[in-house]
Amino acid sequence: VTDSGGVKGRVLVIDDDPMVGRMLVAHIRAAGYEATLTDDPEQFIQLAREWKPTHVFVDLVMGDTDGLTVLSRLAEAEVDAAVVIQSGMGGRVLDAARQVAQANGLPYAGVLNKPFTRADVAEVLAHSIDAPVRPDPTPVELDDWSPAQFEDELRGAASSGALGVAYQPKVTCHEGRLVGFEALARWTHPGIGAIPPISFVPRAESMGLVSVVTDAVARAAAEWFAGRAPNGRERLCINISASELVTSDLHGRLTAICSAAGVSPERIVLEVTETSAMGDTTVSLEVLTRLRLDGFQLSIDDFGTGYSSMTQLASMPFTEVKVDRSFVQNLGNSLPAEVMVRSMLQLSRGLGLECTAEGVETALALDVLSRLGCDFAQGYHIARPMPGSEVEGWLSANV
Ligand code: C2E
Ligand code: MG
Ligand code: MG
Repeated sequence: VTDSGGVKGRVLVIDDDPMVGRMLVAHIRAAGYEATLTDDPEQFIQLAREWKPTHVFVDLVMGDTDGLTVLSRLAEAEVDAAVVIQSGMGGRVLDAARQVAQANGLPYAGVLNKPFTRADVAEVLAHSIDAPVRPDPTPVELDDWSPAQFEDELRGAASSGALGVAYQPKVTCHEGRLVGFEALARWTHPGIGAIPPISFVPRAESMGLVSVVTDAVARAAAEWFAGRAPNGRERLCINISASELVTSDLHGRLTAICSAAGVSPERIVLEVTETSAMGDTTVSLEVLTRLRLDGFQLSIDDFGTGYSSMTQLASMPFTEVKVDRSFVQNLGNSLPAEVMVRSMLQLSRGLGLECTAEGVETALALDVLSRLGCDFAQGYHIARPMPGSEVEGWLSANV
């Protein structure tokens, strides 16, 4: 096969077994792709650079080199071909190899389990390629700031409006219908620029200042929400820090903010990270129950990563579980991830809780969630967090 028209792409194969290699090449060509085979890692990397394949097939177990070394060398060489991993070693090992590929920032197209058929090869080539997982926002170091300056800056930002809110839509998994928005803190500092929550929320927590963040976000979000909500079904989700359950009059502050904005607490979901349920269990239980009695919905955020035991989950008055994105991101490519999400869904359904998956980055993940019966989804595949002023535009284009 040559460069002539009609070729779907170029596939470079490394396999140390000539028979397997030749068979792969034949299947790849039958699927309409050009193919080149080598059993030499040096030549493989050189071809990956110079021949510019669209896909590379990497044998995980070879005589002298292993596939993992080849994967990291591909990443070093900044080759951006989609990676297909082949092996006869079964699911767990392939899953670990996928994680290595993704951790190296390589686009990952799928696995090929030996023995494979012509149809398996065609299918893996037809897969839509998951974009490499986008790095989380780069943290901004605020170490130059003394505690006193941090407090000044934070309070200043809260009162000037520099501490604002981005909104991320939440939809039903099944139909993609809008059910609400999560409010996420966004600090734009005049000198530094954007400071992501990961850089200031933990510090505010440790200094006992997180209520400054909560109040600024809740107030701005409730006002925005009251202004736009044309129907009574959408909900506004607000993040609450663990520490606030035990140290502050959270209940009083939130009810005051809601009544000032004219938003009923039934329409507010408070997302509490799992760790918080740990703290002082008696106090947390009391605060959470009082909030629930006032109508607030209560969600366990980042579920699956924290400390909550099943007993706590069962005994606290939560209404929703939010499955952490580390489980969701790999759905469709990872059997263990699917097994874990399925059991989290089962647990939450058994307890009568709604379930949201966060970090839905691909159509594939959304399909799996829908099949597993998850209620709601949130993530870059649906929409990124956006300023309130952009929400209407997004809605008219997408929902
Ligand atoms: P979280 O509550 O679990 O929020 C979800 C985070 O995941 C957000 O990061 C969001 O931008 C990001 N995200 C959404 N979809 C995707 C996706 O598809 N892929 C990936 N990789 N990420 C996605 P953000 O805004 O940087 O917030 C980080 C954390 O900071 C939040 O995690 C929350 O724990 C905390 N936080 C944010 N705003 C507030 C706040 O107002 N108060 C408090 N106490 N904590 C806040
Ligand atoms: Mg959250
Ligand atoms: Mg979360």
